[in-house]
Amino acid sequence: MSLTVVGSVAYDAVETPEAKIDRALGGSAVYFAAAASLLIPVNLVGVVGEDFDRSEIEFLRARGVDLSGLTSEKGRTFFWKGRYLADMNERETLDTQLNVFESFDPVLPESYRTSPYLFLANIHPQLQLNVIRQSRGTRFVAMDTMNYWINGTLPQLRETLAAVDGLLINDSEARLLSGENSLFRGIEKIQKMGPRIVIVKKGEHGAILKHEGELFICPAYPVEQLFDPTGAGDTFAGGFMGYLARAGGINRASVRRAMLYGTALASLCVETFSVERLRGADLADVEQRVERLSRMMALD
Ligand code: AMP
Repeated sequence: MSLTVVGSVAYDAVETPEAKIDRALGGSAVYFAAAASLLIPVNLVGVVGEDFDRSEIEFLRARGVDLSGLTSEKGRTFFWKGRYLADMNERETLDTQLNVFESFDPVLPESYRTSPYLFLANIHPQLQLNVIRQSRGTRFVAMDTMNYWINGTLPQLRETLAAVDGLLINDSEARLLSGENSLFRGIEKIQKMGPRIVIVKKGEHGAILKHEGELFICPAYPVEQLFDPTGAGDTFAGGFMGYLARAGGINRASVRRAMLYGTALASLCVETFSVERLRGADLADVEQRVERLSRMMALD
């Protein structure tokens, strides 16, 4: 069983009200793989520039992440700079330098094409669709997207949505995509666009799942210190998809439990800059948090 992720590999600069870092390993595919690799072998597809220091992702290889889909191109690695406001649910992007990511045209290595689980992180929806068309016999495909694609490339995004099983987005994106103020009505509308599983992430307010006509609501794990929320969404996706692939089937119980794994991993991610906490974590750390979450949700 394996899980493939296609997304960004980046250097980030991040400012929070309390701390600042000028260059940290980031990117959606890196966060995703750092989380999912605790649960299942991961195949990564991305691109880096000549400035990228591959030793920084050696820990991923050591965890069984196949990096043969990570290509190097002439130029610089994708760079993103963001700042969090006092309410860390709010962030502004200060700079995006696409660099080698601008001409990213993901190609799945032959050995990735039959991977049963596939996650398409936030890239141009046409590229997401191209990747789906390269894969064969995939059992479950999920994707992320963002305001930029919803506003700028809606027809292509609709075509990609029609080809996936799952969508993970945040609450403001769900409202924008559906045109509905009520998240619950919005989710129904989004399901009509294609994905039978929709997950809406609401930061410290947890995440909502709709699957087989039923809602499931998972609270956020109570973190002692929210240090840097960057990557929490991608880490959630890595935990969610990693658990599903490990469970080996998509059903009511596995999808619900996968929400707890996504939540537990996201809570580890936000405790440090970059993937530092995820790098040091093991499966026992994650399972401890999953257990605490399930106790928090128990009725008796
Ligand atoms: P998240 O906080 O889960 O939205 O993920 C943040 C990560 O996504 C950062 O590490 C960034 O490098 C990366 N990122 C930010 N903007 C983009 C973009 N336009 N395309 C791809 N990756 C991005």
